[in-house]
Amino acid sequence: MALKRSERLSALTSTILPRSADYEVKLTPDHESLRNTIRDFAEKQIRPMAAEIDRKNHIPRELLNQIAKLGLTAITYKEEYGGLGADLLSMVIALEELARVSAACSTVFVASHLVSEPLNEWGTEEQKKRYLIPMVAGEKIGAHAMTEPGAGSDVAGIKSTAKLHGTHWEISGRKTFITNGEIADLYLVFARTSPSPSRQERHKGLSAFLVERGTQGFQVASKIETIGLRGSQPSELVLDHVKVPKDNLLGKEGDGFYVGVKTYDRGRIDVAAQGVGICQAAYEAAISYAQTRTSFEKPLIEFQQVQYKLAEMAMGLHTARLLTYWAASLKDQGKDFVKASSIAKVTSTEAAEKLSLLAMMIHGGYGVATEYPVERFLRDSQIIKTYEGTNDIQRLTIAKQLLRELKA
Ligand SMILES: Cc1cc2nc3c(=O)[nH]c(=O)nc-3n(C[C@H](O)[C@H](O)[C@H](O)COP(=O)(O)OP(=O)(O)OC[C@H]3O[C@@H](n4cnc5c(N)ncnc54)[C@H](O)[C@@H]3O)c2cc1C
Repeated sequence: MALKRSERLSALTSTILPRSADYEVKLTPDHESLRNTIRDFAEKQIRPMAAEIDRKNHIPRELLNQIAKLGLTAITYKEEYGGLGADLLSMVIALEELARVSAACSTVFVASHLVSEPLNEWGTEEQKKRYLIPMVAGEKIGAHAMTEPGAGSDVAGIKSTAKLHGTHWEISGRKTFITNGEIADLYLVFARTSPSPSRQERHKGLSAFLVERGTQGFQVASKIETIGLRGSQPSELVLDHVKVPKDNLLGKEGDGFYVGVKTYDRGRIDVAAQGVGICQAAYEAAISYAQTRTSFEKPLIEFQQVQYKLAEMAMGLHTARLLTYWAASLKDQGKDFVKASSIAKVTSTEAAEKLSLLAMMIHGGYGVATEYPVERFLRDSQIIKTYEGTNDIQRLTIAKQLLRELKA
């Protein structure tokens, strides 16, 4: 029976307008204390090296070890695996503070989480003992190997294959743009284990595998030079009949697409946090420059056009931060967070781009000079818009979720 107009409206309103409780974001003194610890470390230990990391396209392993010791690799994991048992909001704050000083440094941990998170979610106790515990302790770094030369957004289109031969899997294929490719100890590699049953079910038949660095047939082929996040080196990987034990399958055979996509749903919140960090850095740089640089015998900040730019920046920064904290809080409360994580990722990464450009404009000619950090913020922002699902793909996800809710 068709619904009456008032019933239709009420059903629509409850879908489109969520409950007020869904907007709860609770920040505690523990969050503040974590922020202060990471900020203090980033200011003292990372800031003096941030420009050099970008110029040399290299982050010293010792620095990564020190960041790991602060707990960056342990925050959200259970104590039984060596973790701190804290929430995702804590992780977001830590990444934001790292990215504020060096987005490249934060990327190493964001990418490594794309291995430790699925291990935590789908790993067997044996896999957790062997791989998760050393990752949480910061002794092993992970690299997530999904993208291939012919398949990025179209995850179901990957061509790498894995075949079971008795006690082991044999994996062959080529992966590209793999962050931490050069430095990782453990790789999560996605490959096709059976042909897709039909065109509509292309996502079926993929599986995920844990591959240790140094396994015969596994090679880090070449570095990919990028304009931004320099230091978090993406690389090409070649897998030539790489043999891994049968038990190195992560999750069920055929569940690889699900493992990948669920991992990105959560990982996008980490990327949104990186955007917030870049926004904060651009905002601070712009204010400081506008206060000290004089033009026509007065500080730039006294010109209304400059003030408007700073107002735009304040709007972008606070929107990005609130949406990112909101997405993390939904996840922490066990609520549906998929649409929120895409909304946060798009908003925050595009705000990072916009704020970087505004900061560059406020810096005039110095905005494009490499001795000032603001041009780096713009280069870094281009990559966070792209990885873990481009912002076009995020818009598709938001629309798909909306249509699903309307049908429910
Ligand atoms: C620095 C860097 C680090 C990375 N790190 C990793 C990593 O660690 N692991 C990993 O697996 N991958 C990684 N990636 C890969 C990244 O996830 C992909 O680049 C991204 O998903 C886009 O895929 P693509 O480059 O093949 O572009 P394509 O998928 O070919 O897309 C090209 C353009 O078309 C648009 N497009 C594609 N399909 C659609 C559609 N259906 N609707 C609308 N627009 C569409 C895209 O938005 C984009 O603008 C990294 C990439 C970079 C640049």
